[in-house]
Amino acid sequence: MPAPNTPNPTETTDVVVVGGGNAGFTAAHAAAVRGRSVILLERGEQEMAGGNSFYTAGATRIVHDGLNDLQDFIEPDSRHERTVVPPYTAEEYEADLIKVTEGHNDPELTRVLIQESQSTLRWLNSLGLKYRLMYERQAYERADGSYLFWGGLHVGNVGGGEGLIADHTRVAHDLGVEIRYGHRGTELVVEDGRVVGVVAQTAEGQTVIRAESVVLTAGGFEGNPEWRRDHLGHGWENAKVRGTPYNEGDMIAAALQIGAAKGGDWSTCHSVQWDAFTPDNESNRMLTNRLTRQSYPLGIIVNREGQRFLDEGADFRNYTYAKYGKEILKQPGSVAYQIFDATLRPMLRTEEYDMPDVSVETADTLEELATKINIDPRVLVRTVEEFNASIDRGVPFDPNVKDGRRADITPPKSNWAAPIETGPFHAYGVTCGITFTFGGLKGDTHGRVLDTEGRHIAGLYAAGEMLGGLFSINYPGGSGLAAGCVFGRRAGSLA
Ligand SMILES: Cc1cc2nc3c(=O)[nH]c(=O)nc-3n(C[C@H](O)[C@H](O)[C@H](O)COP(=O)(O)OP(=O)(O)OC[C@H]3O[C@@H](n4cnc5c(N)ncnc54)[C@H](O)[C@@H]3O)c2cc1C
Repeated sequence: MPAPNTPNPTETTDVVVVGGGNAGFTAAHAAAVRGRSVILLERGEQEMAGGNSFYTAGATRIVHDGLNDLQDFIEPDSRHERTVVPPYTAEEYEADLIKVTEGHNDPELTRVLIQESQSTLRWLNSLGLKYRLMYERQAYERADGSYLFWGGLHVGNVGGGEGLIADHTRVAHDLGVEIRYGHRGTELVVEDGRVVGVVAQTAEGQTVIRAESVVLTAGGFEGNPEWRRDHLGHGWENAKVRGTPYNEGDMIAAALQIGAAKGGDWSTCHSVQWDAFTPDNESNRMLTNRLTRQSYPLGIIVNREGQRFLDEGADFRNYTYAKYGKEILKQPGSVAYQIFDATLRPMLRTEEYDMPDVSVETADTLEELATKINIDPRVLVRTVEEFNASIDRGVPFDPNVKDGRRADITPPKSNWAAPIETGPFHAYGVTCGITFTFGGLKGDTHGRVLDTEGRHIAGLYAAGEMLGGLFSINYPGGSGLAAGCVFGRRAGSLA
């Protein structure tokens, strides 16, 4: 047994990648196809591996020119012939990033992300990753049986996040990448100003992997309640962690320790509405994205005092879902209820609202429903009646477009205002589930990590959640995986 703090044993490889999510695997493939020997260290054991990437729907935002432009690298589907996929241009991608981050997105990282989004997916597909159109999330079936995609986010992995990690793992094995599970990176080894390796903790003790290049892809710090409180603000320590519990900022801390600069926005994060009453982390791995509650633009959301507090229909959910978790965190008890009536209920996303053990209360009257969820019935009834009375019913309701069917009340509901009037009524308890943090290390467009003077730290790269700068306040759905692919590949191509 080695003495504590005596790094032992030592191994040598060309490239060591720390963190086995989408960015880490992509970097590993990119280095391996260049003939580099690669060791990938993953903190989780195999059954808990894959990082946040495992928990995703696999949705990946890329530019494209419509279905014809995608057809040769997505899986065939008999629905394609009756499907319209509007092109998603580089200008739209950039405008979406600027809109949701309120202009805080780094312009150079943005340019590269957009420019290489499609070519990187094609490259991953050529290695063995499988993609498809995301009918169940991003398209509505029209009355004539045709499909119209919306929202700029159209392509996803076959099998969602699980499929993504299974594909990545298989490809990594095929390319000769050595994957070491149960290896928690703790420190960087620096000699003569150059990073030359990583110290990792395993069940057997410490080990050192020496390498010419170290690629850090160990995620953000969303799994660390103290860092959440210190950097995101008071209350954030109470958020539920949607994905892996392992992204605790270990390697961000290790890089800062050797002089790396912080990058991106450390004070905001991505969060969503999340089942309020399931046990933390226990059901996440099995249910992954099914714990979100994303059909809120169809109904209303009230807090424990029975009051609405945000515009549920401000925009397509792709552009609001990442901000509204935080709004719920601020409400009493950090809990709210999404309310739907019997007319709206069949329109809710099946995978989420019919989830096993979903937290829901149902009642024939609003008074009864209020009692079940511990809200004063008079207040809930008044909230709903005032909301119903404020709807402009002359405008047709259409969930496929921003229909402008408004509830003119405070706060307003700008689209998809439908009356809550037909029993039975349903209340889904939601809280704030944190997805990932936006702050990380400062790097250039190749993922080369910079020090506080703006100089490259030789031998050190970062990608994925660890590379700060792209996102702030919010992010356009699907651009997290896209960024991990693009910058993971870039880092692995130089490492
Ligand atoms: C529920 C959920 C749904 C999402 N859906 C989508 C979606 O559909 N589309 C999208 O674009 N984005 C989505 N995201 C965001 C997306 O997951 C991230 O942007 C992306 O997966 C980040 O990839 P990554 O490789 O940087 O990090 P991760 O996938 O989190 O990988 C980091 C890895 O590092 C490991 N690690 C951490 N610390 C250490 C250490 N000290 N030593 C060794 N290993 C370590 C972790 O165990 C983990 O495996 C979702 C996130 C969640 C949680």
